[in-house]
Amino acid sequence: MDATLHPETLAIRTGTTRSPFGEHSEALFLTSSFVFGSAAEAAARFAGTEPGPIYARFINPTVSMFEQRLAALEGAERCVAFSSGMAAILATVMGLMRAGEHIVAARTLFGSTVQLLTNVLGRFGIEVSFVSPTEPEEWRAAVRPNTRLFFLESPSNPLTEVSDIRTLAEIAHAAGAWLAVDNCFCTPVLQRPLALGADLVVHSATKYLDGQGRVLGGAVLGATQLLEGVYTFLRTAGPTLSAFNAWVLLKGLETLPLRMAAHSRNAQALAEWLQGQPGVSRVLYPGLPSHPQHALARSQQASGGGILAFELEGGRETAWRLIDAVRLMSITANLGDAKTTITHPASTTHSRMTPEQRAAAGIGEGLIRIAVGLEHVDDLKADLAQALAAATGQR
Ligand SMILES: *Cc1c(COP(=O)(O)O)cnc(C)c1O
Repeated sequence: MDATLHPETLAIRTGTTRSPFGEHSEALFLTSSFVFGSAAEAAARFAGTEPGPIYARFINPTVSMFEQRLAALEGAERCVAFSSGMAAILATVMGLMRAGEHIVAARTLFGSTVQLLTNVLGRFGIEVSFVSPTEPEEWRAAVRPNTRLFFLESPSNPLTEVSDIRTLAEIAHAAGAWLAVDNCFCTPVLQRPLALGADLVVHSATKYLDGQGRVLGGAVLGATQLLEGVYTFLRTAGPTLSAFNAWVLLKGLETLPLRMAAHSRNAQALAEWLQGQPGVSRVLYPGLPSHPQHALARSQQASGGGILAFELEGGRETAWRLIDAVRLMSITANLGDAKTTITHPASTTHSRMTPEQRAAAGIGEGLIRIAVGLEHVDDLKADLAQALAAATGQR
């Protein structure tokens, strides 16, 4: 497909393999295996000398359409889909690394990613050093002769810290390592890490790529050659994306550019409004000029994205009162949904950290994270206004 096409068009017009029926909407192929025309064709498919599906653990046409569409959006040569974001991250390490090698990772990663890298992969001889997402010199200093992978998310969860992808790619490459970026928060609509120098992008498709909280999915993207081992791991170990989930995600991608623009617009307006509210001591959102990495965010993201955090005076008690007082927003740790969600990170998503670790990371007891959805922003403001009044006792 023409690479000069805009994301809105790529999201709709790529990955459109048709069956002989000529259906307009992409088909859902619910089949675990595929029929060959002859014994010779079966042999050729197994030998890899003739393309075509064999078995749905390896390839399913609906899954392939999703992979092609996401690859077009990320500007990637290849995409391999997985059953979840965690499966995609596991496959990245299993496909590219071996025991005795080392990862440098941001300290602020998604909780299950930290558990995977330390408690699971640590048992198989993979070493990890955690460093600040915003201090490139810490990454350079953490490099060892056996370092193979840099891993980060930007913006981070929940503080929306922004990592310098261009600089960290240079440091990784000078060390003979690959840079992998979990692009879950921005999606390719707002940030394309491969164009900034990263080697790999991983996704939890569960979040914005679906966008309506229906299915789990994941993906790894990058150069075809680099992804060979990742695909081999998928084929062999089987954390395959189901055809049904791929079909939901494929249709979800069609509205991704529209949705991301609306998530960002709502979040920007809500962040600006929150800055002036009594009882709110700070607002963290990459689209605010007051954000510590605002200039960097503007240089690598199209807009601020849908996630913001803010700190309330009065600590946990006030934060919990506010959360209990919201009427529209959902109290859930999920994000990337049309429905706005509200979370207290210190007691939920980041509760496995010690109080000292949380304090060092800047995740206070009064911190609240909002994943801003697609409701009308005036209704979201009104909901927060009444909840703030109830929580702080101000009128
Ligand atoms: C949710 C999430 C994941 C894990 O994805 P699953 O689809 O839940 O396995 C990984 N990274 C980030 C940033 C996430 O938000």
